[in-house]
Amino acid sequence: MIVCHGYEMEFMKNHAQNLSFWMQSLPANMLEFPQPILQSEYDVAIVGAGFSGLWLAYYLKQAQPEWKIAIFEAKHIGYGASGRNGGWLSTNIPIVIGNLLKNPRWAKQDVVHLQRQIIDTIAEVANVCEREQIDCDLHQGGLMFIATSDAQASRLQDYHAEELAHGFLPHEIQWLGADAAKQHINIDIMQAATHYQYGARIHPAKLVLGLARKVIALGVDIFENTPVQNLSTHTVYLSHQAVKAQHIIACTEGYTDQLLQDGKVIPVNSSIIMTQVLPASFWERVGWQNNELLGDMAHVYMYAQKTADYRILFGGRGAPYQYGSRDAGDGELDHVTTAQLLQRLRELFPRQDFQVDTAWKGSLGVTRDWNASVTFDDKTGLGFIYGFGGNGVAPTHLAARTMTDRILGKHTALTTLPWNDYVCPTWEGEPWRWLGIQSMYQLLGLADQVENRLQLKKSVFFANTAYQICGLE
Ligand SMILES: Cc1cc2nc3c(=O)[nH]c(=O)nc-3n(C[C@H](O)[C@H](O)[C@H](O)COP(=O)(O)OP(=O)(O)OC[C@H]3O[C@@H](n4cnc5c(N)ncnc54)[C@H](O)[C@@H]3O)c2cc1C
Repeated sequence: MIVCHGYEMEFMKNHAQNLSFWMQSLPANMLEFPQPILQSEYDVAIVGAGFSGLWLAYYLKQAQPEWKIAIFEAKHIGYGASGRNGGWLSTNIPIVIGNLLKNPRWAKQDVVHLQRQIIDTIAEVANVCEREQIDCDLHQGGLMFIATSDAQASRLQDYHAEELAHGFLPHEIQWLGADAAKQHINIDIMQAATHYQYGARIHPAKLVLGLARKVIALGVDIFENTPVQNLSTHTVYLSHQAVKAQHIIACTEGYTDQLLQDGKVIPVNSSIIMTQVLPASFWERVGWQNNELLGDMAHVYMYAQKTADYRILFGGRGAPYQYGSRDAGDGELDHVTTAQLLQRLRELFPRQDFQVDTAWKGSLGVTRDWNASVTFDDKTGLGFIYGFGGNGVAPTHLAARTMTDRILGKHTALTTLPWNDYVCPTWEGEPWRWLGIQSMYQLLGLADQVENRLQLKKSVFFANTAYQICGLE
């Protein structure tokens, strides 16, 4: 236990690989899966047992029940971002619109198309969970973005207008003044909010493990603790054996560069604290009865959810990038980042004495222009799904359905989405990569401080420079 800003923080000690609260709080039998017998040949080999790989196996099996499908997972099911995220099943799209539209191949209607598909994906995931009896605490309470300063309110207005221009209908996002917003969640310093009709809170580990169980029941072989060393046309190289497959799809997100070493997608950390269970008196004061997903408009923004067992999950950046593109490992989080997240949570709810139950981090997969890609070559049978940044829970489902259609050679609404065969620029080498990402986050943190201290009405002038450095503008 450590004491920080007057709060005691308890850190769970455990020995499982993925240190997230989600994984650690589940009974051991939910983590146990049979180890199948390896065949020499498959129709499809998938690398990575996160949402992308599992949804892909699920939809391929629906379409081609007789296909032999294997998933090779380096650690355990849900070890990566899928088992340690913020549980926002949200309508956020994993592209930067300005960057996409620089490419003459894509136009505004392609962004609208992607946005509408992702909106529909929320209901689709909920339907599958109901149909397949995957209990993942899914609650469709919508999403709220809040502004806690004038500068944030100004950005919220701009963002609201941009969302309406790129696929949302006016009734789907409601603008709320401070009083109306506090009816949803009583945060004293809130100045305004937008309330999205769509969006659901989930327990990500329950979803990823429940989905894996379903996929195994459909006849898919999942090999845990089986890292793929290399890929080539129709061959997957394991440590002691090569396996043949007609189609090979890498769904390795923040770990992709370790496999492909092409500098297209790198791991950037996101960090989370989970509070202990909060008392009824807190919830009476705060409301939050509809379990909305909650985010703010700070440059170094936060994201939160109220969990099914009455905790607050509170996430954000902090120690975002490790030199040499090292991934987040098992997820151990440093005390400074934990304290920063706790402090921001306390700013929103100053009357509550929060205790941190668990703190962890995970790797996002980030491309140079922050755009996701679903790439498939029907001649070689090789494909890749990656680049969701912090917005992958719903999009991985849509990307997997897109890849399913590509593998089956279909031409559908999904195969025209702008992430099909999207070629991302390559990241700079070190030390420029490290310097760029570090300076972006330093500048963004400074921008928040300056805006708050000087009570600026708009974003401070150098914030844009920070976004430009790392391709977010
Ligand atoms: C802390 C955090 C919070 C987030 N919060 C949200 C959120 O609230 N909402 C949202 O929409 N998105 C969020 N995201 C992003 C979202 O979780 C991801 O985009 C999504 O889970 C990616 O799924 P995936 O299956 O593509 O990748 P992953 O879940 O990362 O799975 C990749 C898997 O591949 C395995 N692997 C890697 N290399 C190999 C290899 N060589 N051989 C075999 N296996 C390999 C890994 O072990 C891993 O299990 C968050 C991410 C993080 C880290």
